[in-house]
Amino acid sequence: MLLDEQWKKVLKRLSNELTAVNYDLWVSTLVPVNYSNDELVLISPSITARNQVNQPDIFEKITKCVRAEFTPYTFVRVCEKDEYEESLRKQNEEIEKIKETNNLKSKFNKKYTFDNFVVGKSNQVVCAAMQSVAENPSKKFNPLFIYGGVGLGKTHLLHAVGNYLNEHNPELTVLYVTCEKFTNDYIDSLKNNKTSNTADFRDKYRQVDVLMVDDIQFISNKMGIQEEFFHTFNDLYQNNKQIILASDRSPKEMTALEPRLSSRFSSGLIQDIQEPDYETKVAILEKKCSQEGYLVDPEVLDFIAQKNSNNIREMEGILSKVVFYASLLGKSHSTIEDAKEALKDYGEVEHTDLDADKIISIVCDFFKVSREDIIGNKRNKEIVEPRQMCIYLINDMLNIPLTAIGTIFGGRDHTTIMHARDKISNAMKTNPHTKVLVNDIKSRLTKN
Ligand code: ADP
Ligand code: MG
Repeated sequence: MLLDEQWKKVLKRLSNELTAVNYDLWVSTLVPVNYSNDELVLISPSITARNQVNQPDIFEKITKCVRAEFTPYTFVRVCEKDEYEESLRKQNEEIEKIKETNNLKSKFNKKYTFDNFVVGKSNQVVCAAMQSVAENPSKKFNPLFIYGGVGLGKTHLLHAVGNYLNEHNPELTVLYVTCEKFTNDYIDSLKNNKTSNTADFRDKYRQVDVLMVDDIQFISNKMGIQEEFFHTFNDLYQNNKQIILASDRSPKEMTALEPRLSSRFSSGLIQDIQEPDYETKVAILEKKCSQEGYLVDPEVLDFIAQKNSNNIREMEGILSKVVFYASLLGKSHSTIEDAKEALKDYGEVEHTDLDADKIISIVCDFFKVSREDIIGNKRNKEIVEPRQMCIYLINDMLNIPLTAIGTIFGGRDHTTIMHARDKISNAMKTNPHTKVLVNDIKSRLTKN
């Protein structure tokens, strides 16, 4: 309504400025349809009318009168009716496209930032590499492959990169998926045998600027997915898009990984994240306390960091447990006594039903050897290796003294036990397969 009123005033001015012919034929038939962002859009009934109105002498007068009634900065656009509709349609399409791209963009956990990530010896290189990729995607390390044990901060760092990019380069489409999500998307795209679904899947993954795949180790053993991922990887890589992968083991340790994929993973930077040392653990706990507003005595943090946990997620769980326990007692401040009381069952709770017997039977089952042979004196490799594995795991997981382990193994001397244990712990440092083996057996032991 207002627009029409204003336009009428403009017309009045124009009727005095233009010749009667120009006014009657071309200008009086214009209809104002939109006024926004300092632009007034006028619709003309035909292309000829639009061309006439766009003649400099008429157009300048229109602009002058429009500016007198609207604002001094108003621009005028004259379109023919169909042209206008076409431009509206295009505009809507673009908005839809932007919306689609925005849907593709991942939402990142705001708590997982670089600022909230405590840097220590164990993770400083990984953190620097991730920061450098966040600051210069596709320029430095591509792909960037990070790996390390459970709960050491890999997912945190991926989110930190996402948060950083969303803040500093919001125009980039940053997609974070777990390997599982990638797999499920792919399987969904194959359903109903529709080629359009597969095409949608490819479009989705290949139009991003930064692709992060978490827990990529789960791609081992899945040949179809490896094939698809290989193509996604190549496509992004060739288009100079950044790829970041996180895994619980190095590409070398990912058995059942196609060699061509393994070599792609290894073509950029591979960086591991180590278990945190004591100081880093305390610093992480302090950060967590200040973030969550926990009031905790320093001895409590020391006590928790000393506990045999190298899994930071688990350590944070212990901290919340202590704080929760103190709050149940009506305290706002947790003391060392509360912590000890809250955690008194902790050690046992974790592996309640784990004992030497169970370790031996799982290892026997794993290597397909008999308990008799393991306890006995056979010295062939097929028996010696599982025996050493049992000894290593009993020592590592149960904290039983070496002499007591010697007794379990038919009265062996503690130096023999120590030698067996060291054999495995040294092999873990030099042979990636041993490490995988130990982790696999451990996960069976803690699952059952
Ligand atoms: P991963 O993906 O390696 O299993 P996460 O990234 O999920 O581990 O980390 C587990 C928890 O530990 C998260 O709550 C994370 O914020 C925290 N965490 C890990 N490392 C650090 C660190 N260096 N500083 C602060 N918090 C950390
Ligand atoms: Mg993770």
